Amino acid sequence: PAPTSGQRICTTCPYCGVGCGVEVIHDGDMVTSVQGDRDHPANFGRLCVKGSALHETLGHHGRLTRPRVDGREVDWDTALDSVASRLAATRTEHGDAAVAAYLSGQLLTEDYYVANKLFKGFLGTPHLDTNSRLCMASAVAAYKRAFGADAVPCSYEDIEEAELVVLVGSNLAWNHPVLYQRLKAAKQRNPLLRVVVIDPRVTDTCEIADLYLGLKPGSDARLFNGLLAWMADKQRLDTIYLEKHTAGLDEALAAAREDDPRIEAIAADCDLDSEALETFFYWFASQLHVVTLYSQGINQSTSGTDKCNAIINCHLAGGKLGLPGAGPFSITGQPNAMGGREVGGLANQLAAHMDYHTPGAIERVTRFWTTGDLTPRLPNSPGYKAVELFNAVERGEIQAVWIMATNPAVSLPDANRVRAALAKCPLVIVSDCMADTDLMDYADIVLPATSWSEKDGTVTNSERRISRQRGMLPPPGEARHDWWIMVEVAKRLGFDAAFAYTHPGEIFDEHARLSGFENTGEGSRLFDISGLAGMDRAAYDALTPIQWPVNRAAPFGTERLFEDGHFATPTGHAALVPVRPRAPEQALSAARPLRLNTGRVRDQWHTMTRTARAPRLMNHRAEPFIEVSPADAAALGVSDQQLACLTSRTGEYCGRIRLSKGQRRGEVFIPIHWTDRFSMAARTGGLLEAHIDSLSGQPEAKHGAVSLAPL
Ligand code: SF4
Repeated sequence: PAPTSGQRICTTCPYCGVGCGVEVIHDGDMVTSVQGDRDHPANFGRLCVKGSALHETLGHHGRLTRPRVDGREVDWDTALDSVASRLAATRTEHGDAAVAAYLSGQLLTEDYYVANKLFKGFLGTPHLDTNSRLCMASAVAAYKRAFGADAVPCSYEDIEEAELVVLVGSNLAWNHPVLYQRLKAAKQRNPLLRVVVIDPRVTDTCEIADLYLGLKPGSDARLFNGLLAWMADKQRLDTIYLEKHTAGLDEALAAAREDDPRIEAIAADCDLDSEALETFFYWFASQLHVVTLYSQGINQSTSGTDKCNAIINCHLAGGKLGLPGAGPFSITGQPNAMGGREVGGLANQLAAHMDYHTPGAIERVTRFWTTGDLTPRLPNSPGYKAVELFNAVERGEIQAVWIMATNPAVSLPDANRVRAALAKCPLVIVSDCMADTDLMDYADIVLPATSWSEKDGTVTNSERRISRQRGMLPPPGEARHDWWIMVEVAKRLGFDAAFAYTHPGEIFDEHARLSGFENTGEGSRLFDISGLAGMDRAAYDALTPIQWPVNRAAPFGTERLFEDGHFATPTGHAALVPVRPRAPEQALSAARPLRLNTGRVRDQWHTMTRTARAPRLMNHRAEPFIEVSPADAAALGVSDQQLACLTSRTGEYCGRIRLSKGQRRGEVFIPIHWTDRFSMAARTGGLLEAHIDSLSGQPEAKHGAVSLAPL
């Protein structure tokens, strides 16, 4: 039913991985205001400036409202027939693996589930990946190595219950503002709670830091290896925990000691003051309730997985895990990066958190997805991860790609090359809610999708909490839900029986049932949400936020994982992983002497299709910029507010110089948000070379090599 005037509807913010609950006030026609949902455990009524401006970003201006095929507006039947027939022709001529999908952490879990089932299950291609690869893939790979499963152990409450919170590679104040507010409030309540910020840049997050370590970019693994060796040398290991619950300490320690373990040597390698470094080591080692919270500064690196494991090693070595206020805690960037992981939205996953190599997984999913005479044809090995996927498009190996709710022409590294690859790809299908994005220049078929406030489904935030997004506004023109679009294509391809969904609640039910289907292993039980299966429409509509796993053993969800010290590895022990620190892939040179760092600004989201609509959000940073230290600016002959350009091997980025005392010498920082549609010369993706972590496939977005010159 349509909302009535004054009705309050609870939904979830569509921006960052904090996943705040939003209460929307409706006047019967439109959303008049928003406020934080006091009952949502992620935010308890708080919202950041982006969330509180959500109602100012709505409206149909600029929306995609009709399907297009080869540049002509068409009706839905024509568009869906074209998608189906061209995908079928591609598979007939070039094989199943010539078809690919590239998804987004903006999609809802139900959309993700249908995409995974359609592409991997029934089109038979393994090549389905997501822009979440750019966000948290290294954290996923590290959890699997350490715990045997991609399982985030902590809850937000742990941040408040800790005695020490270590923020590494995270500008929490800007990128996860409500979590920052919670941490700040916890520190005010408990003056004994210490905060350490480890980041090359002095950011607003440092406002609450008791200790700031402005380390050399890329030296994080050396620092945490040094901490592990220091804990061992000072007899600060939790030997009982290590003995009972872990394996691999000797190998991890040996690797850590391959570099000089003296504090002065570690400090020199990380470009830190040795006294400050030892203070951090002492604080970490002497407190049990430590949360290390890390984000893209750790993940977006060619050694991102190793960096995550170096952090996890220290937590395992100190027994700082599975307790209130303790654990290594990766925070995702996007609203539903976690939900995508749950249903197999990564190229190396199969479905329901199962990997291809999980014993019996392919057969188990095949049995579950078999419908009458219709049997899925699952691939038997992983597909291409984001950067590799577009390289395969460039080679002509992938002949058809369907891109949903994301803009790889801007956001992937070496974006100019991605554009060239898309330009020669025979079939590019784009589902989006906006009409004019950089990607549309390459689209053969364009499909108008619904957006936040129009669609129903679920998302999962960084603490494993599943929340409902609720539709409350009619879609503009002929925009349709992503899941509906894929279901209609599946029907035209002859897969109707397996895609007979009429409502997202039915998709969620199937997802929940699959998570518990023939569940035997420890890993499977961790991801089991079968306790949420069987909800009728009303129960699904009324679903309140809950953390997985949710099953017979944990009907009300699970706040913290691994409390019993039992992990999802074959032995039940967590693994300390030997880490050998590596420098960033892109070396500095005389031609490109500056280290490039990239990130978000406080009030913008991704390519600004939504946030740029709110004037007050544009006021914070109105144009592309380059943050430079005053000393570098003087040496390079540029001054504050002057226009300048950065040049790398792959591209150029121009913006206004902002002098920043928080910027280390020899390093520059630029925002990721601006695209050709806003500024022809400020495309961050074009500036970044495409180097990836070989384990996670995550691109190195924090360590470019550039030169700077005035415009
Ligand atoms: Fe939205 Fe993140 Fe802000 Fe919460 S912190 S309101 S989820 S952008």
